[in-house]
Amino acid sequence: IKPVPSDIDISRAQHPRNITNVARDLGIKESEFEQYGAYKGKVSLDVYKRLADQRVDGHYILVAGITPTPLGEGKSTTTIGLVQALGAHLNKPTIANVRQPSMGPTFGVKGGAAGGGYSQVIPMDEFNMHLTGDIHAIGAANNLLAAAIDTRIFHEMTQKSDKTFYNRLVPKKKGGRSFTKSMLLRLKKLGINKTNPDDLTAEEISKFARLNINPDTVSIKRVVDVNDRFVREVTIGQAATEKNFNRKTGFDITVASELMAILALSNDLKDLRSRVGRIVVAMNTNNEPITCDDIGCGGAITALLKDAIKPTLMQTLEGQPVLVHAGPFANISIGASSVIADKLALKLLGTPKHMDVVKKELGSLLPEGTDPNESYNKYIPEKGYVVTEAGFDFTMGGERFFNIKCRSSGLKPNVVVIVATTRALKLHGGGPDVKPGQTLPMEYQTQNLDLVAKGCENLAKQISNAKSFGSPVVVAINQFNTDTPEEIAVIKQKALEAGAADAVESNHWEEGGKGAIKLAESVVKIADSVETAHEKVNFLYDASNPSIAEKLETISKEMYGADGIELSELAKEQIKSFESNNLNKLPICIAKTQYSLSHDPALKGVPSGFKIPIREIKASVGAGYLYALAGKIMTIPGLPTHSGFMNVEVDEETGEIDGLF
Ligand code: ADP
Repeated sequence: IKPVPSDIDISRAQHPRNITNVARDLGIKESEFEQYGAYKGKVSLDVYKRLADQRVDGHYILVAGITPTPLGEGKSTTTIGLVQALGAHLNKPTIANVRQPSMGPTFGVKGGAAGGGYSQVIPMDEFNMHLTGDIHAIGAANNLLAAAIDTRIFHEMTQKSDKTFYNRLVPKKKGGRSFTKSMLLRLKKLGINKTNPDDLTAEEISKFARLNINPDTVSIKRVVDVNDRFVREVTIGQAATEKNFNRKTGFDITVASELMAILALSNDLKDLRSRVGRIVVAMNTNNEPITCDDIGCGGAITALLKDAIKPTLMQTLEGQPVLVHAGPFANISIGASSVIADKLALKLLGTPKHMDVVKKELGSLLPEGTDPNESYNKYIPEKGYVVTEAGFDFTMGGERFFNIKCRSSGLKPNVVVIVATTRALKLHGGGPDVKPGQTLPMEYQTQNLDLVAKGCENLAKQISNAKSFGSPVVVAINQFNTDTPEEIAVIKQKALEAGAADAVESNHWEEGGKGAIKLAESVVKIADSVETAHEKVNFLYDASNPSIAEKLETISKEMYGADGIELSELAKEQIKSFESNNLNKLPICIAKTQYSLSHDPALKGVPSGFKIPIREIKASVGAGYLYALAGKIMTIPGLPTHSGFMNVEVDEETGEIDGLF
């Protein structure tokens, strides 16, 4: 229908397939699938175990973007549109892998994240709210850890003798007492080789029992999945029962928690358990790191996350499978969906590795009398296409995707799709500012070839950044109805000149998968010409380089085009502390504005002659990276005067939700 109706109206007008049918078409067995209502369900990691040795992975496609305007340039919409084109129009096996949206933006200013127009994940209300409870589980797990830290400090403070404290920590029971698994891990770390709690000497008892946490260094904040600015800073412990142990802390939005980053980067349950245990929650009074396992919380957190580790299966508007999993904050984390979902999808869409697997899988399906050996090429299932997304522009989201996520997963995208829009290019070419909720200035509504051509410098930088990791680039021009053929032609020419393997306009927002057929054909052609998803990535830097400053400098110079970095005194001290505690051999995520290649949102196009100011450096040791703040980064947004939540109502007759966007 034209004009294109609202996202929620489009979502509601489509009758989704029952999700068990989507799962069955992917070859997921009944025992490997847990249905949550008719349109979503969780996929067991047993699928991966079953297929790990049997299949060669499918093709891996990464969708990233140019430096965006505050309106968003359609990366999610393009991810879904491309999968609809691949599946419904080119008949290719395909899966879209996307993040689970936070309810903060859904009810705030940005809206949901299900794509848009005729390229969406459906049902969009279920997608944008609660889903299968993963974000809630992360909130519960994080807040358990926060409570455990403060309570531990309180108990150590109020129980004077080491012996009394130890006896309460490792209580005597009828049949004798024993250490928990995390206590054994702590003993090992301290070099105490004893397993019987009654054998510890007085000196060992005080070394083991007292964590001596410095309350000023606690890095785990409480979290809530609401844009609640009033809890950015709070004082806890004000009731009389806390005996004057109070301290200033604050809340983050749940998706900004380290646990969310861990969910995104873990390879399996075992990996998740050990990453959770390694989270550095604070420093002790000797400035040594105290971990989640020291607090004894790693096992319980893993228990709370044991269902969250399974990706949720949903579908596109045209019925293709979508795996929704994890949603780490794009600022201080990787802003991409999970390693687990990517690995699962790549196996589900892989081809059988050995003839005996082909025979087993296809034997009964082959026409009578065919010899599977002879028919190998004819009957072997085709490799499919897994399309996933990296938040923000390629220079931030894509760089982290390769340097952090791919380093963790061992995967490499066969193709990088870079989404560009005329409006963002015009902004980078010198056009006036654009703001959400305001009418676009005239430059954006009429043809302006000069602004587009000049703005293509930003596109060119994104292309060369992407190519430096070793994957070919296809530029997707996400078409708006004000674009002219001349503007599109300029973008194509500039993209090819900058080294893109192809550049294609795509009208999936207005036309669904049909509008993205040309883009899908191009992606297929280029992906098929690249070997596998397991080739070596040309990483930008060696994560094991002990110099944090050198790694920061490499990212700033090579990706952002900066002259270098400027470290604050605080950052210099923190670097020293990380280096002395051996927390330096990790990749780095630089948190900065997404509206410029630089740290300054006002600098459009391809800025030069600037240095990236590094104010502060923090460690997400469990997730496996350091993050550096190159600006004021809000870790819990606020609500605007007219908030998204104000539009939402439920039809009292049908129970249908209205007003989500
Ligand atoms: P990103 O993932 O890059 O943040 P989204 O895919 O969420 O961007 O799109 C941002 C917004 O722009 C959404 O509301 C979407 O519906 C809208 N949008 C995307 N592409 C188009 C288009 N070609 N025409 C009109 N609106 C679009």
